[in-house]
Amino acid sequence: MARKFFVGGNFKMNPGSLEAKKAIVNVLNKADVDPNTEVVISPPALYLIPLVDFLRKDFSVSAQNCHEKLSGAFTGEISPTQLADAGVPWVILGHSERRTLFGENEKGEVRSIVAAKTKAALDAGLKVILCVGEKEEQREAGKTDEVVRSQLEPVFEVLKGDDAAWSKIVIAYEPVWAIGTGKVASPKDAQETHAATRKFLAERVSPAVAESTRIIYGGSVSAKNCKELSTQPDIDGFLVGGASLKPEFVDIINSKR
Ligand code: PGA
Repeated sequence: MARKFFVGGNFKMNPGSLEAKKAIVNVLNKADVDPNTEVVISPPALYLIPLVDFLRKDFSVSAQNCHEKLSGAFTGEISPTQLADAGVPWVILGHSERRTLFGENEKGEVRSIVAAKTKAALDAGLKVILCVGEKEEQREAGKTDEVVRSQLEPVFEVLKGDDAAWSKIVIAYEPVWAIGTGKVASPKDAQETHAATRKFLAERVSPAVAESTRIIYGGSVSAKNCKELSTQPDIDGFLVGGASLKPEFVDIINSKR
């Protein structure tokens, strides 16, 4: 079965007000978009509920994070059950800004926070955009595939025996050096990592899961570079940060047209 092209807009902690977000969403609401592309918009948590109502119904919303527990004394956190209850179907997990700035890192830990969150989100009925990607020095040292594999490994472990769970996961390959920098991975480099990631899925889960799981690219995607990236056989869409706040996001959604 063909993998449906997927484009996510990660607003991060932008822009300032609800009105500014509505202005961006208004452009999307009026846009002529490819019906063969699945679109998910990820505003800051506070704006999820108003945007569930405001956003066109063929698009959906995603949280940018959630806690790994379903409830409890965790001041300042939001549980996956609460997201599901608020009508939010998706959550981004393991974004490099969470891994590096907020300590959601596998290194030196006895267990993976990202894997625990992934399991909790799926248990709560959410779908997950699971981010992986190497830092610049890791790419220069030729360790890209090793890093991606080590980030996926705890998720393979925690979902062992539940191949169906992978139908609720989109993997976002986002090289850290390309995020917000204007330095995009070349279509060839991105394709190589996507193909390697699909191979890990085939080996560690199953060839069927590898074939059906969408692997999207993120890191300085723009209207200029999206077309060529989208022609690569293992690139099934994009996770877009900066450009998702601009009208060119519509062109990125329509990359395959
Ligand atoms: P960028 O961000 O498109 O601004 O590089 C991508 C992301 O962080 O998901």
